[in-house]
This record gives sequence, structure tokens and C-alpha cells, in this order.
Amino acid sequence: MKAIVLGGSMAGLGTALALSRRGVEVVIAEQDGNPLPPDPVEAFRTWQRKGAPQVWHSHAFLSRLRNLLLEHAPDVHRALLDAGAHEMRFGDHFPPELLPYEPEPGDEELVLLACRRITFEWVLRHKVLEQPHVTWRGGVACLGLDAKPDADVPRVTGVRVRTPEGEETWQADVVVDATGRRSKLPDWLAAAGGERPDEETEECGIFYTSRFYRLREGQKPPTSNGLVGMDIGYLKYAVFPGDSGIFSVTLAASKDDAPLRALLRQPFFEVAARELPPVRDWIDPARSEPVTDVWPMAGLKNRRRRFVRDGRPLVLGVHAVGDAAVCTNPMYGRGCSLALVHAFLLADAVLAHPDDPAACARAFDLATRRELDPWYESARMQDRDARDVMAAQRSDTLSELDGPADPTRPVDPKAFMRSVLQEGLFPAMREDVVVLRAVVRVLNLLDPPESILTNPDVIGRVLAVWRDRDQRERRQSELGPRRDGMIRALRAAA
Ligand SMILES: Cc1cc2nc3c(=O)[nH]c(=O)nc-3n(C[C@H](O)[C@H](O)[C@H](O)COP(=O)(O)OP(=O)(O)OC[C@H]3O[C@@H](n4cnc5c(N)ncnc54)[C@H](O)[C@@H]3O)c2cc1C
Repeated sequence: MKAIVLGGSMAGLGTALALSRRGVEVVIAEQDGNPLPPDPVEAFRTWQRKGAPQVWHSHAFLSRLRNLLLEHAPDVHRALLDAGAHEMRFGDHFPPELLPYEPEPGDEELVLLACRRITFEWVLRHKVLEQPHVTWRGGVACLGLDAKPDADVPRVTGVRVRTPEGEETWQADVVVDATGRRSKLPDWLAAAGGERPDEETEECGIFYTSRFYRLREGQKPPTSNGLVGMDIGYLKYAVFPGDSGIFSVTLAASKDDAPLRALLRQPFFEVAARELPPVRDWIDPARSEPVTDVWPMAGLKNRRRRFVRDGRPLVLGVHAVGDAAVCTNPMYGRGCSLALVHAFLLADAVLAHPDDPAACARAFDLATRRELDPWYESARMQDRDARDVMAAQRSDTLSELDGPADPTRPVDPKAFMRSVLQEGLFPAMREDVVVLRAVVRVLNLLDPPESILTNPDVIGRVLAVWRDRDQRERRQSELGPRRDGMIRALRAAA
């Protein structure tokens, strides 16, 4: 069997790995033509990745991805560690309130891989290109599909590509679209006489900005605040430990928050980062120095495309994988993990139905709905709620959103849930390892998104903390200033 994979990034490389190791001949067509730099350090300095500009942003690699590699491609996992990635285990960075910590069965699965996206992609590409059945064609852009009618839907038999030598048509048994969130597959399908897939799109509502830093010689990461990933309503921020002493800081805010758009510019990014106590420790000039500019990213969307309608495939012989099919807000750090999970699911479907493209399409669609849809839906729901909170903080009506001060007023269920989240779940995660474990398992895609809400033990613990909220000292100032304070700091810097 021969497959053409369009796009040589996370989903494309993952698909090529999964298919080629099971005997499929794979040709990868990647529009970026630059050769692979000799090592990840050089790649971070010089690699041009115009087709995937997010490689210059912070990336988390979740336990689900790390465990998938250990199971299906342990040599890739080993190569990542050899390239400087390190594993961060549940319990490694606990604050004193969570100590002493007694590991439970299952905690050994909770391991993040800390490294730069560039390093991850460099290693993955390197390992995939070692495969005997894989051919890499850089500088080749797909222009459209080659298809013939089969019953009532197009049967894709190949692709039209622009190579450095000119336009060509390539034939294959299976075509895989891994061209990312800007995939043109719906247009290509329409041009081939097929129907466009069913599509849902919703703005994430945020802009995203990242900067990379290097720990100075002899310096270590701060131990006092462990892993940093915070949501203070108007601002979401995180520190991502990487490889080779490099780490990155990401700040994200509403795209409609005009004063905060200053964060897209370097001096203001630094001012804001220093206003956040958990980040301040990391970027203290005595500890670290910036090694890149501030990279912005906007236009972020949650999007899902479906290629099977009521059990009927809209096209045969082509499949979308990774962001080309399901794309979620990067803030949740799931895209690469889901792309690799999706790639292996596709390989299962292709190999289970080598001679029946309709059965293959249906099997892949079912697997996608089962494994990816819950994360798409959860991202969309969380984003809607976050947009409400950000808008309320901008218009200073959060207290109304937070819940009724007047006990005779009916309780708004959304405001109640928000209050339980802010004043129950978040503080409980800092004090109760059972709650923290339940949340971290979901964040790492090991348990389904709704599992916290259906666990009576966890709910009981969270509500106990929430009931005690008036006795509890508010910790907002330890996490960062209120929005008006942040804006004052930015104005003062201007
Ligand atoms: C700001 C930001 C931060 C993120 N942070 C995280 C994170 O912390 N953790 C995480 O897991 N995910 C994160 N993500 C998401 C993650 O980057 C994506 O989910 C992931 O890259 C998807 O992989 P992909 O292979 O589907 O698409 P991409 O990585 O976008 O790759 C698509 C590839 O297709 C190529 N291509 C495009 N068109 C063509 C064509 N016509 N012909 C040939 N080749 C083509 C491109 O050059 C590119 O190489 C983040 C995303 C953004 C935007």
C-alpha cells in the first residue's frame, strides 16, 4: 500500500511513523523546503518554518503523548530525552502544602515531556526519515486532489503538487491531509466535484504571545512555585520548561482588550511578566536572560470538520488528520498530543480496511468522534465561559457574574459554577492531592473532560473548600494584580 502524506509537521510525521512501521510506503510532501538543520540547537537558531509559525511558541507535550510514544515508538521517546527533553512527573514540583506525597497506582502515567516544539519536531522528523519506507519531498506544495467518481462520491487516487521542477500528479492508495489549521481540503474536495465537509468554527477570542529565555550558567529553575499555569480571568499565563536550559513564558488575553494588546510589544510583555509573582522568579535577570523577541499569534480558532455524514463518507481515499480535522485553543496545550493520537488512529483504520475505503472512512470517523470530539467540545465550552469572564472584567461587572450578593435573587447556574471553580476547585488543587490528581489527569488527556464532574469524592472535596471560601484568604495578589492594576503598570511603563 502506498500513502501520500501532505504536510510534514506533527500530524504528518506521526502518520508517516505509524503507517511506515506497519509496512505502508509513505511519501511526505511538505511545502517548506528548508533542509533539516544538523541538530535541535541549530534548528532553534536558524530553521525557517513558515508553514508552521507556531513552532516559535511555547508548547506543552502532555502525558497522553508521552505514553503513546512509550507504547508505540519508544525509540522516539528515547531520542527526545537524548536531545535534552526531560520528564516532569506528578509529585516532582509539589508545594509544601501537598507534602508528604504518597504516589498512587496510575501516578506513574502522569509525566509531561518538557522540551521546545522545535526540538520535538526535529527529533520526530529525524526518526521518521530513518524509516526504510519513507520518502521526504521538501518544497512540494499540494495544489489539489486527483479523483475519479466512485458511485456518488469522489474516490481520491492522488494529488496535484507543485514541486521545484514544476507541476506533477502523484498517485497513491491513500492521501492524508496533515496541512494544519489552514488546510484547504474543503476547497480541494469541492473542486474535485465532492461535497464540503460539515464544519464548525468558533473564535477562541484570545491573542497569544511567547518569549524564550535561557537560564544563566549555574542557575536552576525556581523551586518555590513548581509548574506555572494560571488563569486570572483577564490574563492567562504559563511558564514552559524546555530543553537545554531554555524555557518560555506565554501570556494570553482577550483580543478585544485594547490596553492589554500592549503585551504584544516586548517592553510591555516584560513589564506584565514581572507583575506576575510566579513568573517574576523565573525571569529574574540574575537567573535568566531572554533569547528571542516576543512572538505574537492571533486569529486562533476552535474548528472541527467532519467527512462522514449520517454514516455516509463524503469522499473516499483521503483523510484529514491533526489540526486539518480538529483544532483547539492552543492555551490548553493539546494540539500536538491530539495530532499524534489521531495519526495512530488513522493508521489503525487504514490497516484494518486496506481494500474498503468506505469502511476505513467510517472507522476513522468513529474513532475521531470518540477520542477527539470531547476535547474539541470542552475547549469550545471553556472558551465561551472565559470570553464572558474577560468581557465582564473589562466592563467591571465581574461581581455580578460571580454570583448574587442578595440571597433572595435566584442563583445563576453559570455564575455558581464559576464561583465553585475560582473559590473551590482552584484553591483545592493547591491543598488536596486527590483533587489535583483528578484535574491533572484531565489536563493530560488521560481521563475524559467530564470525569471531574462525575467523581463524587472530588466534588465533595471541592465543595468543602468552596463552602469555606469566606474564611479563606484570597490569593489573587499572589497570582497577579487585578486588571486595573496591570493596566496601571503598563501605562506607567509607557
Ligand atoms: C500559539 C500556539 C501555541 C500552541 N501551543 C501548543 C502546546 O502547548 N501544546 C500542543 O500540543 N499544541 C500546541 N499548539 C497546537 C499545535 O501547534 C498544533 O496542534 C500542531 O502543530 C498541529 O500539527 P499539524 O501537523 O496538524 O499542523 P501544523 O503543525 O500546522 O503543520 C502543518 C504542515 O503542513 C504544511 N503545509 C501546509 N499547506 C501545505 C500544502 N498545501 N502542501 C504541503 N504542505 C503543506 C505546513 O508547512 C506545515 O509543516 C499551539 C498552537 C499555536 C498556534
